[in-house]
Amino acid sequence: MRAAVLYAWNEPFKIEKVDLQDPQQGEVMVKLAASGVCHSDLSIQRGVLPMPPPIIIGHEGAGIVEAVGPGVTSVQKGDHVILTWLYSCGICRDCGRGRPHLCDKAAMATMTGGMYDGSTRFKVGGNDMRHWCGSFSEYTVVPEQAVIGIRPDVPLTSACLVGCGVMTGVGAAMNTAKVQPGDLVAVVGCGGVGLNVIQGAAVCGAEKIIAVDLVDKKLEMAKVFGATHVVNSKQGDMAEQIKGLTDGKGADFVFEVIGNTNVMQQSFQAIRRGGAMVAVGVPPIGQELSLPAFSFPLEEKSVLGSYYGSPRFRYDMPRILDLYMAKKLKLDELVSRRLPLDEINTAMEIMEKGEVARSVITYA
Ligand SMILES: [Zn+2]
Ligand SMILES: [Zn+2]
Repeated sequence: MRAAVLYAWNEPFKIEKVDLQDPQQGEVMVKLAASGVCHSDLSIQRGVLPMPPPIIIGHEGAGIVEAVGPGVTSVQKGDHVILTWLYSCGICRDCGRGRPHLCDKAAMATMTGGMYDGSTRFKVGGNDMRHWCGSFSEYTVVPEQAVIGIRPDVPLTSACLVGCGVMTGVGAAMNTAKVQPGDLVAVVGCGGVGLNVIQGAAVCGAEKIIAVDLVDKKLEMAKVFGATHVVNSKQGDMAEQIKGLTDGKGADFVFEVIGNTNVMQQSFQAIRRGGAMVAVGVPPIGQELSLPAFSFPLEEKSVLGSYYGSPRFRYDMPRILDLYMAKKLKLDELVSRRLPLDEINTAMEIMEKGEVARSVITYA
Protein backbone atom coordinates (compact mmCIF):
# COMPACT_ATOMS: atom_id res chain seq x y z
CA MET A 1 0.00 0.00 0.00
CA ARG A 2 1.03 3.60 -0.48
CA ALA A 3 1.14 6.63 1.78
CA ALA A 4 2.33 10.24 1.64
CA VAL A 5 5.33 10.60 3.95
CA LEU A 6 6.56 13.92 5.31
CA TYR A 7 10.33 13.50 5.80
CA ALA A 8 11.28 17.07 6.76
CA TRP A 9 9.70 20.43 7.44
CA ASN A 10 9.09 22.59 4.35
CA GLU A 11 9.68 19.67 2.03
CA PRO A 12 7.06 18.14 -0.27
CA PHE A 13 5.35 14.90 0.74
CA LYS A 14 6.81 11.79 -0.87
CA ILE A 15 4.55 8.97 -2.00
CA GLU A 16 6.09 5.78 -0.63
CA LYS A 17 5.35 2.09 -0.44
CA VAL A 18 4.62 1.40 3.22
CA ASP A 19 3.94 -1.65 5.38
CA LEU A 20 1.14 -1.58 7.90
CA GLN A 21 0.85 -4.05 10.77
CA ASP A 22 -2.43 -5.75 11.60
CA PRO A 23 -4.53 -4.01 14.22
CA GLN A 24 -3.66 -5.09 17.75
CA GLN A 25 -5.83 -5.24 20.89
CA GLY A 26 -8.44 -2.47 20.72
CA GLU A 27 -7.34 -1.21 17.29
CA VAL A 28 -9.02 -0.87 13.92
CA MET A 29 -7.63 -0.94 10.38
CA VAL A 30 -9.46 1.38 8.00
CA LYS A 31 -9.30 1.41 4.20
CA LEU A 32 -9.48 5.12 3.43
CA ALA A 33 -12.00 6.31 0.88
CA ALA A 34 -11.31 10.02 1.23
CA SER A 35 -9.36 12.55 3.25
CA GLY A 36 -9.88 16.27 3.45
CA VAL A 37 -6.76 18.42 3.30
CA CYS A 38 -6.79 20.74 6.30
CA HIS A 39 -4.81 23.85 7.11
CA SER A 40 -3.30 22.02 10.10
CA ASP A 41 -1.65 19.60 7.67
CA LEU A 42 0.09 22.60 6.14
CA SER A 43 1.04 23.88 9.61
CA ILE A 44 2.68 20.52 10.33
CA GLN A 45 4.51 20.58 6.98
CA ARG A 46 5.73 24.10 7.76
CA GLY A 47 6.81 23.18 11.31
CA VAL A 48 4.31 25.60 12.90
CA LEU A 49 2.60 22.78 14.79
CA PRO A 50 5.01 20.80 16.93
CA MET A 51 4.73 17.40 15.26
CA PRO A 52 8.20 16.54 13.98
CA PRO A 53 8.79 14.52 10.79
CA PRO A 54 9.31 11.88 9.54
CA ILE A 55 5.62 11.16 9.90
CA ILE A 56 2.51 10.06 8.04
CA ILE A 57 -0.32 12.55 8.63
CA GLY A 58 -3.72 13.45 7.18
CA HIS A 59 -6.48 13.76 9.77
CA GLU A 60 -9.81 14.31 8.03
CA GLY A 61 -10.48 10.76 6.95
CA ALA A 62 -13.41 8.53 6.16
CA GLY A 63 -13.39 4.96 4.96
CA ILE A 64 -14.43 1.37 5.50
CA VAL A 65 -13.29 -0.92 8.29
CA GLU A 66 -10.88 -3.49 6.84
CA ALA A 67 -10.07 -5.43 10.01
CA VAL A 68 -10.46 -5.16 13.77
CA GLY A 69 -8.11 -6.25 16.53
CA PRO A 70 -9.14 -8.35 19.55
CA GLY A 71 -11.59 -6.68 21.90
CA VAL A 72 -13.05 -4.23 19.37
CA THR A 73 -16.83 -4.15 19.76
CA SER A 74 -18.16 -0.89 18.27
CA VAL A 75 -17.39 -1.62 14.60
CA GLN A 76 -16.76 -4.59 12.35
CA LYS A 77 -15.31 -5.24 8.88
CA GLY A 78 -17.30 -3.40 6.23
CA ASP A 79 -18.65 -0.63 8.46
CA HIS A 80 -18.41 2.95 7.20
CA VAL A 81 -16.48 5.19 9.57
CA ILE A 82 -15.07 8.66 10.17
CA LEU A 83 -11.74 9.09 11.94
CA THR A 84 -11.26 11.50 14.81
CA TRP A 85 -7.77 12.94 15.08
CA LEU A 86 -7.84 13.16 18.83
CA TYR A 87 -7.73 9.76 20.42
CA SER A 88 -9.56 9.63 23.74
CA CYS A 89 -9.43 6.87 26.33
CA GLY A 90 -13.14 6.83 27.14
CA ILE A 91 -12.65 6.19 30.85
CA CYS A 92 -10.83 9.17 32.41
CA ARG A 93 -12.49 12.06 34.27
CA ASP A 94 -12.68 14.32 31.21
CA CYS A 95 -14.04 11.57 28.96
CA GLY A 96 -16.59 10.83 31.69
CA ARG A 97 -17.69 14.47 31.71
CA GLY A 98 -18.46 14.28 28.00
CA ARG A 99 -15.31 16.14 27.01
CA PRO A 100 -13.27 13.49 25.22
CA HIS A 101 -11.36 16.15 23.29
CA LEU A 102 -9.73 17.18 26.57
CA CYS A 103 -8.69 13.62 27.49
CA ASP A 104 -5.10 14.00 28.60
CA LYS A 105 -4.42 10.28 28.85
CA ALA A 106 -4.57 10.03 25.09
CA ALA A 107 -3.52 13.52 24.05
CA MET A 108 0.17 12.73 24.18
CA ALA A 109 -0.19 9.68 21.94
CA THR A 110 -2.19 11.75 19.51
CA MET A 111 0.27 14.57 19.37
CA THR A 112 3.54 12.68 19.32
CA GLY A 113 2.48 10.30 16.56
CA GLY A 114 1.68 6.69 17.34
CA MET A 115 -0.58 4.53 19.44
CA TYR A 116 -1.39 4.98 23.14
CA ASP A 117 1.86 3.30 24.20
CA GLY A 118 3.97 5.26 21.71
CA SER A 119 4.45 2.32 19.35
CA THR A 120 3.79 2.67 15.62
CA ARG A 121 1.99 0.49 13.09
CA PHE A 122 3.59 1.81 9.89
CA LYS A 123 6.97 0.77 8.53
CA VAL A 124 8.78 2.40 5.60
CA GLY A 125 11.83 0.62 4.21
CA GLY A 126 11.78 -1.68 7.23
CA ASN A 127 11.94 1.21 9.74
CA ASP A 128 9.17 2.32 12.13
CA MET A 129 7.31 5.37 10.86
CA ARG A 130 5.35 7.60 13.23
CA HIS A 131 1.79 8.46 12.26
CA TRP A 132 -0.95 10.80 13.33
CA CYS A 133 -4.38 9.59 12.22
CA GLY A 134 -2.79 8.76 8.87
CA SER A 135 -5.50 9.53 6.35
CA PHE A 136 -2.90 10.41 3.68
CA SER A 137 -2.46 6.66 3.30
CA GLU A 138 -4.49 4.00 1.53
CA TYR A 139 -4.94 2.22 4.87
CA THR A 140 -4.34 3.20 8.49
CA VAL A 141 -4.57 1.67 11.96
CA VAL A 142 -5.97 3.72 14.84
CA PRO A 143 -7.41 3.03 18.32
CA GLU A 144 -11.08 2.02 18.38
CA GLN A 145 -11.89 5.27 20.20
CA ALA A 146 -10.80 7.20 17.09
CA VAL A 147 -13.21 5.36 14.79
CA ILE A 148 -16.81 6.56 14.62
CA GLY A 149 -19.29 4.33 12.84
CA ILE A 150 -21.62 6.24 10.50
CA ARG A 151 -24.68 5.53 8.39
CA PRO A 152 -23.72 3.89 5.10
CA ASP A 153 -25.81 6.13 2.84
CA VAL A 154 -23.55 9.20 3.25
CA PRO A 155 -20.90 9.56 0.51
CA LEU A 156 -17.54 9.08 2.22
CA THR A 157 -16.02 11.84 0.09
CA SER A 158 -18.27 14.31 1.92
CA ALA A 159 -18.39 12.56 5.30
CA CYS A 160 -14.62 12.87 5.71
CA LEU A 161 -14.93 16.62 6.25
CA VAL A 162 -16.77 15.98 9.51
CA GLY A 163 -13.52 14.52 10.87
CA CYS A 164 -12.04 17.99 11.36
CA GLY A 165 -13.23 21.20 9.69
CA VAL A 166 -16.98 20.68 9.91
CA MET A 167 -16.87 19.39 13.49
CA THR A 168 -14.65 22.28 14.52
CA GLY A 169 -16.88 24.96 12.99
CA VAL A 170 -20.36 23.56 13.56
CA GLY A 171 -19.35 22.43 17.07
CA ALA A 172 -18.06 25.90 17.99
CA ALA A 173 -21.57 27.26 17.42
CA MET A 174 -23.58 24.28 18.71
CA ASN A 175 -21.45 23.01 21.57
CA THR A 176 -19.03 25.71 22.71
CA ALA A 177 -21.29 28.77 22.37
CA LYS A 178 -24.61 26.89 22.44
CA VAL A 179 -26.16 29.50 20.12
CA GLN A 180 -29.87 29.95 20.80
CA PRO A 181 -32.74 30.96 18.50
CA GLY A 182 -32.72 34.75 18.18
CA ASP A 183 -29.02 35.20 18.98
CA LEU A 184 -26.96 37.78 17.14
CA VAL A 185 -23.79 36.22 15.79
CA ALA A 186 -20.73 37.41 13.90
CA VAL A 187 -18.12 35.13 12.35
CA VAL A 188 -14.73 36.62 11.57
CA GLY A 189 -12.86 34.63 8.92
CA CYS A 190 -14.82 32.76 6.27
CA GLY A 191 -12.49 29.92 5.30
CA GLY A 192 -13.48 26.27 5.58
CA VAL A 193 -13.99 26.36 9.37
CA GLY A 194 -15.65 29.80 9.39
CA LEU A 195 -18.24 28.66 6.85
CA ASN A 196 -19.08 25.82 9.21
CA VAL A 197 -19.46 28.15 12.18
CA ILE A 198 -21.92 30.09 10.01
CA GLN A 199 -24.01 27.05 9.11
CA GLY A 200 -23.81 25.79 12.71
CA ALA A 201 -25.18 29.11 13.97
CA ALA A 202 -27.87 29.00 11.29
CA VAL A 203 -29.05 25.52 12.27
CA CYS A 204 -29.16 26.69 15.92
CA GLY A 205 -31.58 29.45 14.88
CA ALA A 206 -29.43 32.58 15.14
CA GLU A 207 -31.40 35.64 14.06
CA LYS A 208 -28.50 37.48 12.46
CA ILE A 209 -25.27 35.95 11.22
CA ILE A 210 -22.76 38.57 10.18
CA ALA A 211 -19.89 37.17 8.11
CA VAL A 212 -16.64 39.15 8.21
CA ASP A 213 -13.71 38.74 5.82
CA LEU A 214 -11.35 40.73 3.63
CA VAL A 215 -12.20 38.80 0.47
CA ASP A 216 -15.53 39.46 -1.27
CA LYS A 217 -15.53 36.01 -2.88
CA LYS A 218 -15.46 34.39 0.57
CA LEU A 219 -18.29 36.65 1.73
CA GLU A 220 -20.39 35.48 -1.22
CA MET A 221 -19.71 31.89 -0.14
CA ALA A 222 -20.69 32.84 3.44
CA LYS A 223 -24.16 33.80 2.18
CA VAL A 224 -24.58 30.34 0.67
CA PHE A 225 -23.88 28.87 4.13
CA GLY A 226 -26.43 31.08 5.90
CA ALA A 227 -24.86 34.48 6.58
CA THR A 228 -27.61 37.12 6.76
CA HIS A 229 -25.19 40.06 6.50
CA VAL A 230 -21.64 40.49 5.27
CA VAL A 231 -18.93 42.92 6.34
CA ASN A 232 -15.72 43.50 4.42
CA SER A 233 -13.26 44.57 7.10
CA LYS A 234 -11.30 46.53 4.49
CA GLN A 235 -14.18 49.00 4.48
CA GLY A 236 -13.72 50.41 7.96
CA ASP A 237 -13.54 49.33 11.59
CA MET A 238 -14.83 45.79 11.94
CA ALA A 239 -16.23 46.18 15.46
CA GLU A 240 -18.11 49.36 14.48
CA GLN A 241 -19.56 47.68 11.40
CA ILE A 242 -20.77 44.73 13.48
CA LYS A 243 -22.27 47.08 16.07
CA GLY A 244 -23.99 49.00 13.29
CA LEU A 245 -25.84 45.81 12.36
CA THR A 246 -26.71 44.88 15.97
CA ASP A 247 -28.61 47.88 17.37
CA GLY A 248 -25.32 49.64 18.13
CA LYS A 249 -24.48 47.25 20.97
CA GLY A 250 -22.71 44.32 19.37
CA ALA A 251 -23.31 40.62 18.88
CA ASP A 252 -24.06 37.96 21.48
CA PHE A 253 -21.26 35.85 20.06
CA VAL A 254 -18.33 36.84 17.87
CA PHE A 255 -16.37 33.85 16.60
CA GLU A 256 -12.74 34.54 15.76
CA VAL A 257 -11.74 31.92 13.20
CA ILE A 258 -8.35 33.31 12.13
CA GLY A 259 -6.04 33.04 15.12
CA ASN A 260 -4.77 36.62 15.04
CA THR A 261 -4.52 38.40 18.41
CA ASN A 262 -5.35 41.84 16.91
CA VAL A 263 -8.48 40.39 15.33
CA MET A 264 -9.32 38.70 18.64
CA GLN A 265 -9.18 42.10 20.37
CA GLN A 266 -11.44 43.64 17.73
CA SER A 267 -13.79 40.66 18.03
CA PHE A 268 -14.00 41.21 21.78
CA GLN A 269 -14.91 44.87 21.14
CA ALA A 270 -17.73 43.72 18.89
CA ILE A 271 -19.59 41.72 21.56
CA ARG A 272 -22.41 43.25 23.55
CA ARG A 273 -22.75 43.16 27.34
CA GLY A 274 -23.19 39.56 28.41
CA GLY A 275 -21.70 38.35 25.13
CA ALA A 276 -18.76 36.11 24.42
CA MET A 277 -15.88 36.10 22.00
CA VAL A 278 -15.36 32.50 20.89
CA ALA A 279 -11.72 31.73 20.07
CA VAL A 280 -11.65 29.12 17.29
CA GLY A 281 -8.62 30.17 15.20
CA VAL A 282 -5.24 29.02 16.54
CA PRO A 283 -2.70 31.82 17.17
CA PRO A 284 1.04 31.02 17.15
CA ILE A 285 2.24 29.44 20.40
CA GLY A 286 3.56 32.02 22.88
CA GLN A 287 1.43 34.97 21.81
CA GLU A 288 -0.53 36.81 24.50
CA LEU A 289 -3.86 38.61 24.31
CA SER A 290 -4.66 41.89 26.05
CA LEU A 291 -8.30 42.70 26.85
CA PRO A 292 -10.09 45.33 28.99
CA ALA A 293 -10.29 43.58 32.38
CA PHE A 294 -13.31 45.53 33.70
CA SER A 295 -15.43 44.08 30.91
CA PHE A 296 -15.43 40.66 32.58
CA PRO A 297 -17.08 41.59 35.93
CA LEU A 298 -18.92 44.79 34.93
CA GLU A 299 -20.22 43.85 31.51
CA GLU A 300 -20.26 40.08 31.90
CA LYS A 301 -18.29 39.73 28.72
CA SER A 302 -16.35 36.53 28.38
CA VAL A 303 -14.00 34.56 26.17
CA LEU A 304 -14.75 30.96 25.29
CA GLY A 305 -12.03 28.71 23.93
CA SER A 306 -13.23 26.17 21.37
CA TYR A 307 -11.09 23.13 20.54
CA TYR A 308 -12.30 20.81 17.75
CA GLY A 309 -15.82 22.19 18.33
CA SER A 310 -16.02 20.80 21.90
CA PRO A 311 -17.15 17.47 20.44
CA ARG A 312 -18.70 14.38 21.93
CA PHE A 313 -17.54 12.40 18.94
CA ARG A 314 -19.98 9.51 19.09
CA TYR A 315 -22.94 11.85 19.42
CA ASP A 316 -21.97 14.88 17.35
CA MET A 317 -20.45 13.29 14.26
CA PRO A 318 -23.41 11.04 13.41
CA ARG A 319 -25.74 13.94 14.29
CA ILE A 320 -23.96 16.26 11.84
CA LEU A 321 -24.35 13.64 9.11
CA ASP A 322 -28.06 13.30 9.92
CA LEU A 323 -28.40 17.07 9.55
CA TYR A 324 -26.57 16.85 6.20
CA MET A 325 -28.87 14.09 4.96
CA ALA A 326 -31.85 16.20 6.09
CA LYS A 327 -30.39 19.07 3.98
CA LYS A 328 -29.90 21.29 7.04
CA LEU A 329 -26.10 21.33 6.81
CA LYS A 330 -23.99 21.52 3.65
CA LEU A 331 -20.94 19.39 3.00
CA ASP A 332 -20.64 19.04 -0.78
CA GLU A 333 -20.44 22.79 -1.30
CA LEU A 334 -17.28 22.86 0.84
CA VAL A 335 -15.39 20.64 -1.59
CA SER A 336 -13.84 22.61 -4.40
CA ARG A 337 -11.29 20.04 -5.65
CA ARG A 338 -10.95 16.25 -5.61
CA LEU A 339 -7.47 14.85 -6.21
CA PRO A 340 -5.69 11.46 -6.02
CA LEU A 341 -3.03 10.87 -3.34
CA ASP A 342 -0.29 11.39 -5.95
CA GLU A 343 -1.34 15.04 -6.12
CA ILE A 344 -1.10 15.70 -2.40
CA ASN A 345 1.53 18.39 -2.95
CA THR A 346 -0.72 20.18 -5.44
CA ALA A 347 -3.48 20.05 -2.84
CA MET A 348 -1.20 21.68 -0.27
CA GLU A 349 -0.09 24.37 -2.73
CA ILE A 350 -3.59 25.43 -3.75
CA MET A 351 -4.64 25.53 -0.10
CA GLU A 352 -1.69 27.75 0.78
CA LYS A 353 -2.69 30.11 -2.03
CA GLY A 354 -6.20 30.24 -0.56
CA GLU A 355 -7.71 29.01 -3.83
CA VAL A 356 -10.04 26.39 -2.35
CA ALA A 357 -12.43 25.96 0.55
CA ARG A 358 -11.43 22.30 0.81
CA SER A 359 -9.67 19.82 -1.39
CA VAL A 360 -10.33 16.16 -0.80
CA ILE A 361 -7.94 13.31 -1.56
CA THR A 362 -9.94 10.38 -2.92
CA TYR A 363 -8.78 6.78 -2.99
CA ALA A 364 -9.75 4.20 -5.57
ZN1 LIG B 1 -7.87 19.78 10.65
ZN1 LIG C 1 -9.98 10.01 28.57
